Amino acid sequence: MRHEAATPAGLIDEATARLTATLGLEKREARLDARVLAAFAWEVSPAWLIAHDTDALTGAQSARFAALLARRLSGEPIAHITAAREFYGRSFQVSPDVLIPRPETELLVELALARMPAGEAVTVLDLGTGSGCIAITLALERPRARVTAVDRSAAALAIARRNADLLAVRVEFLESDWFAALGARHFDLIVGNPPYVAAADPHLARGDLRFEPLAALAAGADGLEDLRRIIAGAGAHLQPGGTLLLEHGYDQADAVGALLQAAGFEDVRNWPDLSGIARVTGGRLAP
Ligand code: GLN
Repeated sequence: MRHEAATPAGLIDEATARLTATLGLEKREARLDARVLAAFAWEVSPAWLIAHDTDALTGAQSARFAALLARRLSGEPIAHITAAREFYGRSFQVSPDVLIPRPETELLVELALARMPAGEAVTVLDLGTGSGCIAITLALERPRARVTAVDRSAAALAIARRNADLLAVRVEFLESDWFAALGARHFDLIVGNPPYVAAADPHLARGDLRFEPLAALAAGADGLEDLRRIIAGAGAHLQPGGTLLLEHGYDQADAVGALLQAAGFEDVRNWPDLSGIARVTGGRLAP
């Protein structure tokens, strides 16, 4: 029996159609997913896929792609299938124990870097570090800085430590429920992307979020429980004049700003992410 060999172009087209139909993805998103899975399945670069789009694939190559596609069609996030996600231009290991790094969090990194002069030994604390993407990026971009990162989850810290090792950077990692394990330590800058989704938010039951740790996403009835605890505790761990920068939900900028003001922070303001949504709010302790 004559059987036409599968080609990268053919398999990617077919996978794009199935991903669109099954997961309700936009066609562009579905095609990107299909291409990422293909590159991962065949251990090739995205450029290879274009140059070799009509090559004949072996049965084993087709089968490997089909197995990965089945996982994605069942809803599993791409970052869990490839065990990695790019953040600020670097690849981070990801597992179901940590939040998958999100592009909007690069805003928090940029705001932090703007407050970390390159030649100075600034002390920085990252709260709820998860994969470690924020702390590790700051440490890599500012080699003189001394970066500490905490998480309540030992499993998350194991991933963060591995990422720091793979990217060859020194970050101090501590198991801590927000400030609990920090004693009387003070920092020049405190940053965090804490859980901020309301517990009953229907988004928790959709898309990638279903596969991510609830403890990294949900924060009480209004999503502000952890932000409240952090803002209440931060003053005792900031140097005079120190800055607190917090990522939050799309509709929480006013509430977070009010909490910062009530806690005595000055110069309270917020910044929009690339979608134009106020995504980070910060303030400064009096010098
Ligand atoms: N930005 C994430 C989302 O809504 C939530 C991350 C968080 O709670 N810190 O998908």
